[in-house]
Amino acid sequence: MNLKILSRNPNLYSTARLQEAGLKRGHSVEVIDPLKCDLIIEKKNPTVFYKNRTLETADAVIPRIGASITFYGTAVVRQFEMMNTFTTTTSQALVRSRDKLRSLQILSRSKLGLPKTVFTNYSRDVGEMIAHVGGAPLIIKLLEGTQGLGVVLAETKNAAESVIEAFNGLEARVIVQEYIKEAKGADLRAFVVDGQIVGAMKRQGKEGEFRSNLHRGGTAEIITLSDEEENAAIKAAKAMGLGVAGVDMLQSERGPLILEVNSSPGLEGIEKATGKDIAKTIIRYIERSI
Ligand code: ADP
Ligand code: GLU
Repeated sequence: MNLKILSRNPNLYSTARLQEAGLKRGHSVEVIDPLKCDLIIEKKNPTVFYKNRTLETADAVIPRIGASITFYGTAVVRQFEMMNTFTTTTSQALVRSRDKLRSLQILSRSKLGLPKTVFTNYSRDVGEMIAHVGGAPLIIKLLEGTQGLGVVLAETKNAAESVIEAFNGLEARVIVQEYIKEAKGADLRAFVVDGQIVGAMKRQGKEGEFRSNLHRGGTAEIITLSDEEENAAIKAAKAMGLGVAGVDMLQSERGPLILEVNSSPGLEGIEKATGKDIAKTIIRYIERSI
């Protein structure tokens, strides 16, 4: 097969591992920088022009599109879809996953457990918002944040009010969320490929930190998910329409709660924590699909 990985940097762990796994299985694999693709749109013959050449037809693309290039990256994925190229992440699922609010709405429709969440149009009635999620402590999240940046734990009602007002004043959109204390600064990452859990880890925030992101100094260890957690992760990936997904969940008294579903989940943390060849699993998924 002829595979293209859509990634800005061939040296990133995930990109390098996917390329290596594809080559090992006898495929031709090229890393394409989506920002350097020109999209030629005309009657019947959509093509991609890249570094002075029209790209030959690929059998599949593996999008590894970072949050900062979602708009153009999605257009590139869509162009490949127009050329009938298989993609491990469809343009629609990619766009959905990048919108925290839209994602939560889709997940809630699928009756998945979620932390109770409120969103308003810069509400003046901050007290009301706080009451909706059961009062402080509570979590405030910038809609555009990633890697744990822009996620605030407000311990008291006063702190919550001033943080929400400050974000409102900056016209930064936020969601206000119930704080799941019993998660104790940990979350679960389930890696789902083609409707199956292929690896799972528990991430624990460093001492005194409620955020478990590896980028914020968290550590990861392999775990076995309960049936309920497995089902929730598989259902979440399906609801989002993702063939490859990193589903983040909190363990709560009322069962697993979905935090977010990542459409370009990193391979490094999960491969190191589980010792599994997740890159190969993704390549095999493509082999089965085309
Ligand atoms: P990001 O997309 O920036 O990683 P998340 O929504 O995943 O933001 O939040 C970052 C981390 O903060 C999570 O991994 C989790 O450990 C913690 N966290 C987020 N929301 C809650 C919550 N409602 N209750 C408790 N902890 C939370
Ligand atoms: N981009 C990483 C992922 O999706 C984030 C990991 C982290 O912040 O913990 O796996």
